[in-house]
Amino acid sequence: MDLTLTEEQRVFKAVAREFLEAEVLPHRAEWDRREEVDRAIVGRLGELGFFGLTVPEVYGGIGGDYITYAVAMEELGRVDSSVRGIVSSSSGLFGKPLLDHGTEGQKQRWLPLICSGEVLGCFGLTEPDSGSDPASLVTSARRDGADWILDGQKMFITNGTWAGVCLVFARTGGPGAKGISAFLVPTDSPGFEARAIHGKLGLRGQATAEISLTDVRVPADALLGPEGGGFAIAMTALDKGRVTVAAGCTGIVQGCLEATTSYAVQRQQFGRPIATFQLVQEAVAEMSVDADAARLLTWRAADLIDRGEPFGVAASKAKYFASEAAVRAANAALQCFGGYGYIDEYPVSKFLRDARVMTLYEGTSQIQKLLIGRAETGVSAFL
Ligand SMILES: Cc1cc2nc3c(=O)[nH]c(=O)nc-3n(C[C@H](O)[C@H](O)[C@H](O)COP(=O)(O)OP(=O)(O)OC[C@H]3O[C@@H](n4cnc5c(N)ncnc54)[C@H](O)[C@@H]3O)c2cc1C
Repeated sequence: MDLTLTEEQRVFKAVAREFLEAEVLPHRAEWDRREEVDRAIVGRLGELGFFGLTVPEVYGGIGGDYITYAVAMEELGRVDSSVRGIVSSSSGLFGKPLLDHGTEGQKQRWLPLICSGEVLGCFGLTEPDSGSDPASLVTSARRDGADWILDGQKMFITNGTWAGVCLVFARTGGPGAKGISAFLVPTDSPGFEARAIHGKLGLRGQATAEISLTDVRVPADALLGPEGGGFAIAMTALDKGRVTVAAGCTGIVQGCLEATTSYAVQRQQFGRPIATFQLVQEAVAEMSVDADAARLLTWRAADLIDRGEPFGVAASKAKYFASEAAVRAANAALQCFGGYGYIDEYPVSKFLRDARVMTLYEGTSQIQKLLIGRAETGVSAFL
């Protein structure tokens, strides 16, 4: 289903697939078991341009459009969602807001490091008591002369213990969305502490952290965008991030489809391949339709970004559909593998564990439905 891709996009997809199958696929089960990908892969991903997609060359990127970015994220999701998340947190949730809202100095300082993979970025919005309702966050930033002093806690931060810089959302004004600002905080700042969260169901290869900020001092030029503009920055970053998650989920569905198809044609029961049974074909057919539908919704949202048009609702639809489809496909794939699906000799148990978080982070499925419902009815269910 590549008919609408340009030649350039097809070439990037082919190069990405070849690289991921050679340098990630052989290690994914081991990285998953030991709860850490080999960090050398970050530099390799940087060399191949994964972190620099959509970023102009002047900032160390390789340019390209959002469709290409979505294609890259699908390829990553097809092989290993842990690796996909490392890339999309750094280049997407951290890098895209910096590209969109940063001063020339901020972009020159951080983007080349992010694009090369030399430094990872992370996105610090969620707090222990503020998840689906980020406007309620309580991490604070107060002025001290020309500097800002940050205090608070962040929860579930992807790349948290590996990142060199964190986009921290903190309260600089009164309650609600308008009192929130965004800051670029180097993670080696005194008072910045990241603690690894272990025991995740999936995405085990990537670092997830709880972050404490205790009197963390940053200069005035750490403020990203206008004072009080942090909530809008976070929401746009999440809208774009949802296209990324949708693309990664499309990769999971595609991976499940391919794994199930090749298993079903060789696994014999009742004296013939299980692919000959209609109920197995039904599962395969549903995965195939879900893969196409998830991809089309994702590319539609990516295309809207490329054309500079409003894309938020399209992103919510893509993320909602693709993440639910990923869980559905991984569950069905495991069923088709029978008992062999339950052990990690085959990829489907990892697909299922990794897929499960996709309906939770970057806005749960319920939140996506409220966003879509608000767009359709003109009535907000959030208040
Ligand atoms: C592996 C992982 C990585 C993550 N990475 C990051 C990261 O890099 N940066 C970051 O900032 N955050 C990150 N998160 C946090 C993630 O975005 C939040 O977990 C998510 O937004 C949900 O928030 P919560 O966990 O506090 O759940 P809650 O908001 O407490 O929700 C609990 C349940 O209530 C439901 N609910 C809440 N409000 C409503 C409503 N109005 N209507 C209907 N149902 C509702 C939810 O849908 C959910 O089912 C990550 C989480 C995980 C698990």
